[in-house]
Amino acid sequence: MAALGGGSGGVVAASHLGHALGKDHNVTLIDQRPTRVFQSSYPWMTMGRQEPADTTRDLTALGKRRVRFLNDRVTFIDTERRVVETLRGRVPYDRLVISLGFETHAEDVPGNHGAVHHAWEMAAALRLRDALSRFEGGGASPPASQARRSGALPARSR
Ligand SMILES: Cc1cc2nc3c(=O)[nH]c(=O)nc-3n(C[C@H](O)[C@H](O)[C@H](O)COP(=O)(O)OP(=O)(O)OC[C@H]3O[C@@H](n4cnc5c(N)ncnc54)[C@H](O)[C@@H]3O)c2cc1C
Repeated sequence: MAALGGGSGGVVAASHLGHALGKDHNVTLIDQRPTRVFQSSYPWMTMGRQEPADTTRDLTALGKRRVRFLNDRVTFIDTERRVVETLRGRVPYDRLVISLGFETHAEDVPGNHGAVHHAWEMAAALRLRDALSRFEGGGASPPASQARRSGALPARSR
């Protein structure tokens, strides 16, 4: 069995199955990162209350649950041949768990110009922390509904 993604979904599935299936089965977890990251800690990082090292755990520790960890990037899933292709090789499977999460592309938001900050990914959370540390004051954009009520935005057409 192979689990793709060493985040919340992949780790829980692989860990549970590795333990439950026992030594007659092979469970392999693949992630491009060597560590699991706890995303719910990102807002704490933006405030300087936690560092990246506080929010990560080494995925090789899953060996205790009979899970083999491969630090590699998934490039293709061949469902007909039941093979996962990675940058460095191929991993056959009988059953597959896909839990590869998401990635953001704020650069695709029209008018962004590098000014949009968020805490949905670690690198973005650290950029937000830096921006907040340099912030000397200013206004904040109100939510669209509030801006409409104040007349700053036109009312929605029905
Ligand atoms: C700021 C924040 C706060 C949150 N708070 C909560 C909360 O309080 N409660 C809650 O239930 N949920 C919360 N969530 C949501 C929760 O973290 C996600 O729903 C959950 O992590 C999704 O799990 P996942 O396994 O699908 O993906 P992820 O946890 O994102 O894991 C995906 C993994 O796949 C790997 N990967 C991606 N592509 C490849 C590839 N091609 N090859 C190899 N590896 C790859 C990534 O490196 C990553 O490790 C929060 C999320 C954020 C960002």
